[in-house]
Amino acid sequence: MNTLTYTIQTLVLAGLTVFTNSAFAHGHGHGSHHDHDKHSHGSHNHEQKAHEHGVAQMEFVIDKQNILLAVNSPLYNLLGFEHKPKLAEQKQAVKLQLKNIRNGDLVSFNPEAKCKVLNIISEQPFDTETHSHDHHDHQHKHDDNHKGHKDIRFEYELYCEAPDNLKTLDSSALFSAWKNLQTLRVQWIGGGQQNAISLDREKTKLSLK
Ligand SMILES: [Zn+2]
Repeated sequence: MNTLTYTIQTLVLAGLTVFTNSAFAHGHGHGSHHDHDKHSHGSHNHEQKAHEHGVAQMEFVIDKQNILLAVNSPLYNLLGFEHKPKLAEQKQAVKLQLKNIRNGDLVSFNPEAKCKVLNIISEQPFDTETHSHDHHDHQHKHDDNHKGHKDIRFEYELYCEAPDNLKTLDSSALFSAWKNLQTLRVQWIGGGQQNAISLDREKTKLSLK
């Protein structure tokens, strides 16, 4: 992870990225007060990421054998709602979607590159029993009453044994799991170049070369 953090910093310093206000700038201190506060307010701190139902953003950086990938999305795209789950089926939906994320295969690269997910970072969209944020209760109440919307973000850190064989990224699993997702706006850095493309339900694969 240190290597990856270093990589991202290097790329940012090299001026190759417009991701300065993005997931990569957050660091990985999920548990810290600072990050928590940031996440509580969803996308409001991210002018570049308008909260648009049906649309999600993905960013990734390929640096030699390492890939760091981040997805930001309105919760609506995966849950169909953005309030704290009340009904049993809503709670079930949250659990299922978090499980999908933590399986690490919502987005994948062509198998010839032999990429393995080393680390998955995902935020809890709602206060749940698995996360003790008791001291933040006032914050969550504020969120629940917030009339706005709510986002989710996750990151995959991958290591590829054969990066020369990297050809495609496949987001079909993401589109199958996230029923309301229509458009995935992708930005990535690879081979010293920055690229952007939009994927959708018809076109779920991205060519890296
Ligand atoms: Zn929304």
